[in-house]
Amino acid sequence: MKIAGAYWRGNEKNPQMQRLYGAAFATKEELDKHLLMLEEAVKRDHRRLGKELDLFITSPMVGAGLPIFTPRGTVLREELVNYSNSLRESYGFQKVWIPHLTKKELYEASGHWEKFGEELFLVKSQETSDELVLKPMNCPHHTRIYADQPRSYKDLPLRYLETTTVYRDEKTGELGGLSRVRSITQDDSHVFCRSDQIETEINNLLQAASDLYLTVDMKLRVRLSYRDDSDAYLGSKDLWESAQNQLKNAVVSNSLEFFEEEGEAAFYGPKIDFMATDAIGREHQVATVQLDFVQPERFNLEYTDETGGAQRPVMIHCALLGSVERFLSVYIEHTAGKFPIWLAPEQIRIITVNQELQITDYAAKILDEAKELGLRAYVDNSNETVGKKIRNAEQAKVPYTLVIGEKEVGGDRVIPRVRKDLVVIAAHPELSVSDFLKTVVNEVKTRVNKTSL
Ligand code: ZN
Repeated sequence: MKIAGAYWRGNEKNPQMQRLYGAAFATKEELDKHLLMLEEAVKRDHRRLGKELDLFITSPMVGAGLPIFTPRGTVLREELVNYSNSLRESYGFQKVWIPHLTKKELYEASGHWEKFGEELFLVKSQETSDELVLKPMNCPHHTRIYADQPRSYKDLPLRYLETTTVYRDEKTGELGGLSRVRSITQDDSHVFCRSDQIETEINNLLQAASDLYLTVDMKLRVRLSYRDDSDAYLGSKDLWESAQNQLKNAVVSNSLEFFEEEGEAAFYGPKIDFMATDAIGREHQVATVQLDFVQPERFNLEYTDETGGAQRPVMIHCALLGSVERFLSVYIEHTAGKFPIWLAPEQIRIITVNQELQITDYAAKILDEAKELGLRAYVDNSNETVGKKIRNAEQAKVPYTLVIGEKEVGGDRVIPRVRKDLVVIAAHPELSVSDFLKTVVNEVKTRVNKTSL
């Protein structure tokens, strides 16, 4: 499959060797399937599609692992994030906002300084003696909101939601891509609850994650990530055991396909990792739900129980997409850039057959109507041939294309061209412009993957 240089026994003082990589399969079918997958993976490479579809760029003046999103790419990000947020808002999550720059004391208190020290970006104040860092995590900030007021058992659960970027000074690996970046946007959330509320809260989050991955058409299974026997974890073993049991109960009662693995937990608690399978059979780690008994301890978070005694709340961390950048790298390859209607940066392209005034006016009128309904539509009134304009729309993977000529102007009817992968019933119905637009609006609202237009 490939070759690489290597030193004998991994020691650079030893002679250099040539390492050969190979793969073997039990049957010819499996080999063929694997080769086909590799071929598809190259075609779907998100770095290539990101450029072709004008979704994101990188700039040497900005730096490696710091992608910049274009207007089209930003539509994708925002639609996904809004959906992820709305799923949790229906379970009582409320939006909060935190700054990206923080004194390092916060992370000393949380334990992240000790754990992530070398990955933190340090920032020096020129006005004060403050030593600041770019936040690598959002949880410690959210504990500040909780701790700002006395809390009673009746106030819980408190659920905070925020899509925000964290910064980690990791080796960036492949340049120009979204898989490994240093500015990582998380659709993050934190629940502060009583221990008797854990199961309900986890159930809600598992339901939200299941809904999201069903909508993006990816098969899910979950990994229950437990601690191992090493001392790399904060918190007592009893606490860990109780947390691990509650996560497993919630997963079992949601009938999710799962497997268990020791040594995959975060240092502050066990977690549920969601693994999603893409269209060419590769599995990716995406969402997480994590229990945490350690940060409430470290930040001395409390609430008053029924008897007036002080109790420790439990924290639940959850991101449904995980890292928005990484999710996009997976999702762009999963869809090969053929996004469903609700996510498509351009939903409708209106093509004029020539530049005659009545045709141009009519195209502009449809554009106005579409925009008024909140749809993302563009007119191609360029001097190209109709054939070329249609090919351009196909290359941009636009879901719907309307070709406007004299016939359409006169009859106020259109025959939408539907992107091939979206058509369930191969029909080309003629319908009025307003009926067509209403149908698209409804498809966006219900986030359909296919269309029967
Ligand atoms: Zn967190």
